[in-house]
Amino acid sequence: MDADKGGFPLPPGALAELVEREMTVGNAWLRFSPQLERLFESETRPRQVHHMLITAYVGIALFNLFLIADYLLVPDVFVLAAVLRLAIVTPVSLVLVLLFVRYARSSVLRHSASIVVMVIMSLASIYLLASSAMPERVVYHEGVLLIVIFVCLIHRPRFWFGVAGAVITNGIFSLGLHSQPIATIETRMAIELIVVMGSLFAIVAAYSMEREQRLFYLISLKDRLHSMMMEGISNRDALTGLLNRRALDKRLREFSDRGAGWHQSLAVIILDIDHFKIYNDRLGHQAGDDCLKQVAALILSMMRDGKDEAFRYGGEEFLLLVDESDSDRAIAFAETIRRAIEAERLPHPDSSTGPYVTASLGVAQADAMRSTPSEVIARADMALYAAKNGGRNRVWPQITLRSPVREILA
Ligand code: GH3
Ligand code: MG
Ligand code: MG
Repeated sequence: MDADKGGFPLPPGALAELVEREMTVGNAWLRFSPQLERLFESETRPRQVHHMLITAYVGIALFNLFLIADYLLVPDVFVLAAVLRLAIVTPVSLVLVLLFVRYARSSVLRHSASIVVMVIMSLASIYLLASSAMPERVVYHEGVLLIVIFVCLIHRPRFWFGVAGAVITNGIFSLGLHSQPIATIETRMAIELIVVMGSLFAIVAAYSMEREQRLFYLISLKDRLHSMMMEGISNRDALTGLLNRRALDKRLREFSDRGAGWHQSLAVIILDIDHFKIYNDRLGHQAGDDCLKQVAALILSMMRDGKDEAFRYGGEEFLLLVDESDSDRAIAFAETIRRAIEAERLPHPDSSTGPYVTASLGVAQADAMRSTPSEVIARADMALYAAKNGGRNRVWPQITLRSPVREILA
């Protein structure tokens, strides 16, 4: 029941500031600040893994389709081509893709695996060409460019991995091309130029695609944070900063939707400041507001992270949803709050209950009778009424000093 960060690593306000800063910086290096980068990675991961898997399978299929070109252009090494493509590169690539793209959690492993597959495919192509004696194979070199284009623009690992893959592939290609005495040096240089220029275009296009993807991500994150903050503001009481009635209704609807399970561990405490009308009349409305703020802050400080939630229920009434399956423990918790308010010693000049501000508290436990949330609240309200009638500055039902209670009050 913690103040909600909505699954984000930071509160929405702080994260929104980070996003704003990132948008002004411009993200030229395609890397957000560490926290945002981790969030980007985790939020885009499922879609990206899916995309990379599908395109990896398509890429492997296309790589094998090149057997047709092998048959037409380098028939002298066709058997070698078939073995290399179908029996070596395909299974190795599939294992790498399944192990590291599909199942590995690390994004570095995922992108590196893609690049390793890319390099293996390029090496296999160059090896085939080097093994053939057909003069037409010179044209065939440009097939390597297709691998770079496919990986950078269709498969789309993160940009910097694509760059690394393109550089390695171009290096292998260049070595392969120049180590063979095919065609004239001019023809080889022209072929190399085409491959290098083509790779460069692919890299530039991949850069702008990823930059755009990151910008869109920031814009959508900013929108989501904005609506979360708006929602947060509309759920808070302006004076005390506690959750308001609207938030309570929402929470209760959630409990009702969850069905019978909600009653297992919930208690409701309603707290009402004693003789607050007199306090206002005597000390003024502003002093009344300050008193409400102080009591609210005290209550908030006593809420246990992830266990309890405090709402401003009415004027000087607060409702606490307490995660406690034992009714004695809930009553004891109410008693610690009552004592803490009394111990603040906020002067209350005209109170017939005592010299300081005090509060009465009614407690009701969701029980095995499967009461609805509103029934439990109604019981807490009745208990509060009993506490008031019993003399105020007390918790109702009255405390029984059984062991768990003593331990809490100790
Ligand atoms: P009891 O001990 O029976 O609870 O008496 P009470 O005077 O506290 O209860 P009552 O319901 O008669 O009066 C509640 C008062 O709380 C009346 C109203 O002026 C005051 N109040 C409600 N909301 C606010 C607020 O936001 N600011 C201030 N200053 N006073 C408020
Ligand atoms: Mg009241
Ligand atoms: Mg009151």
